[in-house]
Amino acid sequence: MANKIRVTIWHEYRHEKSEEAIRAIYPNGIHAAIKEFLDKHDDLEVRLAALDDPDQGLPDDVLNNTDVLMWWGHMAHHEVNDALVEKIKNRVYDGGMGFLPMHSAHMSKPFRAIVGTSGKLLWSDDQHELIWNVLPAHPITAGIPEYIDLGTEEMYGEPFMIPQPDELLFISWFEHGYVFRSGCTYYRGRGKVFYFQPGHEACRSYYNEYVQKILYNGIKWCAPNDFGAPMHNCDYRKAIL
Ligand code: ZN
Repeated sequence: MANKIRVTIWHEYRHEKSEEAIRAIYPNGIHAAIKEFLDKHDDLEVRLAALDDPDQGLPDDVLNNTDVLMWWGHMAHHEVNDALVEKIKNRVYDGGMGFLPMHSAHMSKPFRAIVGTSGKLLWSDDQHELIWNVLPAHPITAGIPEYIDLGTEEMYGEPFMIPQPDELLFISWFEHGYVFRSGCTYYRGRGKVFYFQPGHEACRSYYNEYVQKILYNGIKWCAPNDFGAPMHNCDYRKAIL
């Protein structure tokens, strides 16, 4: 792609403001920590957006100039405006914007609206996690070993109420016996979705080099294709005749 991929990292940005222990891990917020390692790639143009910003961080001019929207939310899913969720969904389906929900975004309104299921799962305390790479030929798993020893993460387990993934990239094992489909892709309309599980606010997963690599690869994969003129502006009969 000749132009840079325009990435917006949306974050509800509440835990870090209210909890000292979380602020100690991510002093400027999870979104800023993600931006820091993404900024090392000169093919990306990264900006931050937060729930408490005007227009919940995503006024039309930002959303319409975003190629890949990353999303982290947890305690404030319900505060996200339904009208904004609809705009995000339409931008994925019709505009081809990539959507990259992380960790507890499995219960976010945009994720549920875009993939079409509840996103509920089994969860428990923090446990040792291994992430197994089950589709090593995929662009998102490029440069990723057979498994990643992530250390401690919040346990997410099956059943995970998602549609069958179009591609299953990662399966995680947790030390008390749980397993989880921790990396899944979906094709929705013109857009692509990559869900990736690590990233609990009290853990340090966004400092893991492989998590960083996977998110970068995910952005590259999620970026929209060059579609040419929007189909809905075509006169189909003229095109055929
Ligand atoms: Zn969590």
